Parts: sequence; C-alpha cells; structure tokens
Amino acid sequence: MDAPIFTRMRDDRFKKIVLCNDSRSGLRAIIAIHSTVLGPATGGTRFWTYAHEGDAITDALRLARGMTYKYAAAGVDLGGGKAVIIGDPKKDKSEALLRAFGRFVDQQGGEYITGEDVGTTLADMEVIHLETEHVVTLPEHAGGAGDISPATALGAVLATRACAQRVWRDSDLAGKRVALQGLGVVGWKALGLLVEAGCEVIVTDIDHDKVDRAVSTYGVRSVEPQDIYSQDVDIFAPYALGAVINDETIPRLRAKVVAGAANNILAENRHGDELEARGITYAVDYVANSGGTIFDTDRLRKGGFQRERAWANVGKIYERTLELFEIADRDGIPCYRAADRLAEKRIADLEGVRLLGTATR
Ligand code: NAD
Repeated sequence: MDAPIFTRMRDDRFKKIVLCNDSRSGLRAIIAIHSTVLGPATGGTRFWTYAHEGDAITDALRLARGMTYKYAAAGVDLGGGKAVIIGDPKKDKSEALLRAFGRFVDQQGGEYITGEDVGTTLADMEVIHLETEHVVTLPEHAGGAGDISPATALGAVLATRACAQRVWRDSDLAGKRVALQGLGVVGWKALGLLVEAGCEVIVTDIDHDKVDRAVSTYGVRSVEPQDIYSQDVDIFAPYALGAVINDETIPRLRAKVVAGAANNILAENRHGDELEARGITYAVDYVANSGGTIFDTDRLRKGGFQRERAWANVGKIYERTLELFEIADRDGIPCYRAADRLAEKRIADLEGVRLLGTATR
C-alpha cells in the first residue's frame, strides 16, 4: 500500500520533499518543492515549533503549494517551494544551524530559493547567504530589495481599487468609508495611501500606541478591535490576522468589499462562497498581497534588482485583480476559485513553452 506522504504528493502534484538533518548543530528541516514549471521553487523558511514532525511536513507542503499559486497568479516566473526548520527560533537558532541549512539549500543546485518567513529575519538570510547564492530576501546592503512592505501595501490598495471598479464601476476611492484592521508595517502604509486617496478610514489595532499614532497623524476615527467588523463602511480592509472572514464575522459585515494584505483571510473556502452569496466582492489575499513578493523577487530577473521595473510590476496587481473578476463573472464562480483558475491557466499555458527550451525544469 502507498505511504500517505506519496499519496499526498501525487494528489497535489508535488515534485520533491527533502528532509535535512545535521546532528551537530541540531538542524532538522524540510524543504518542500511543489512545482518548478514556471521557474525555481521559491518560498521562505519558517522556523517554528511543531507538536509532531508530521505537522511540520504538512505545513511545508501546504505553504509550498500556496507559493506556486501565488507566483503564477502574480505573473512572476517562479515555482512554489517552502522550507520549515523545526524548533524554537528564540532558543534553537544559531549561526551553525543556519549555515548548515544554507548548505542544504545550496545542494538543491538552484531548484529551491529561500527567503524570510515567520521565525526568520533578514539578518538570518544574510547568514544563510554565506553558504548559498539561492536566497531571495536580503537587505539592500547585500543586494536585496530591502523593506518590501511599501510594495505590499501599494498592491493591496490597487486590489482595493479593482474591487471598487467592479462594485461601483469606478476605481476612485475618494469618499469611500474603510474599516482598517491592523496598523502594523503594511497596514500603516496602506492607511497613508487610503487617506491620500480621499477615503474616510476607521482604524483598529490591539496595540493602542499604534491607534493613537494613527488618530493623531491622520485624524482618523478608531474603534475597539472587536467592533471593526460591524462598522457602517463600504470596504473592510484586513491587514492583521488570518481567518478573519468566518461564521462569526460574516453576518456582521456591512461592507461591499473585503480587500487587504492579510494572509489566509478566509477561515475556510466556504466562507468565500458565503461572501459571494451576499454580494460582497473579495480581493483574493494571495493576489492582493503579492506586491511585496513581486518587488522582492525582481532581483532574480535579468540584470538583477531594478527598482522601476519592480514598481511597474507591482502596479499590474490592479489589472490582474480585474482579470480574476472577469473569470469569476464569466464562469459564475467565487473570486477565490477564479484566482486559482487564473494561476492554473498560467501554469498550463507556460508548461508547454518551458518544455520547448529546457529539459530540466
Ligand atoms: P505586523 O505584525 O507588522 O502587523 C500586524 C498588526 O496587526 C500589528 O500591529 C498587530 O498589533 C495587529 N493585530 C494583531 N491582532 C489584531 C487584532 N485582533 N485586531 C487588530 N489588530 C491586530 O505584520 P505585517 O507585516 O504588517 O503584515 C500584516 C498582514 O499582512 C499579515 O497577515 C501578513 O501575513 C500579511 N502580509 C504581509 C506582507 C509584508 O510585506 N509584510 C506581505 C504579504 C502578506
């Protein structure tokens, strides 16, 4: 009988899983390579404590597959991959462990390119970079794009404009009322862009200092975190956590648009169906928040990082979001399914082209 891991790999068309062990440094890591059809499998390294080794593998697989879709839908020529290092980043991280991991990344010969994720930092990437060229997120002084949050924020606001175009037949956000959840590095920048666009924004965060700063800087109104969902607004803008669109919050929403940079906004896919049924347009998370990724991965393109080209490609998120709405309307499917279809179509279209030139991809 097949081992479940191979069943999973076959069902979701995974290419490879690499289990990495270095007994001296204590490194235990998984590199999951989902697809290399569009380019090298790329995705960050998560450093996390898992209750079971199986959970770590499941997480690596889930995240790697998500990256395939994210790059494909974002129009980036990269495949999907992800790495997971098992352990507590506060206690178990050491130079030796990170460099041992870098050796394993290097041994993949460019088939996997790593980057920052939960539990790893740009400084960690510099250490890994000592052992391998195959690192994408790096500080500017090491040849990287540096802070990607402005690009993430701009992309999410462009996706919001596309939603406005679909719902109100006008991408102008002037006068639109927005409930913005989360004033972190991305949410703060999105707030600036929304205020500049003429929106009337209501903000919230669990960190009161951030809320106070928003109120004093922009003169916006604030509410307690639990009240953000039920505000009388046109747009609900999640910039904090995942799973905020769920059974409990959907009935409270009065907005016609859900658009923000948070990852995994839908608690489950069926909540995307529910939004659709209620006539709420959803800017699919992995398209709306792809600005940072587009910006960041520009350094892997011909000529290395070119700031203007990177910004121009972030700008395409507006058309790409409209494109997925066209698919949703044409095929009569919810937006989140349309985004998957957009990604799958791009992979299928380009698979043949890639096969023309190279035998290895
Ligand atoms: P961050 O940690 O800087 O900000 C998150 C903010 O949310 C914090 O201010 C935090 O206090 C607040 N918050 C937490 N729980 C909250 C709650 N219950 N109610 C209200 N506010 C709450 O993170 P970030 O980098 O700004 O990312 C925000 C979201 O965007 C995350 O979901 C992240 O995965 C996603 N994202 C970020 C990037 C990026 O470029 N940083 C790229 C893609 C996706």
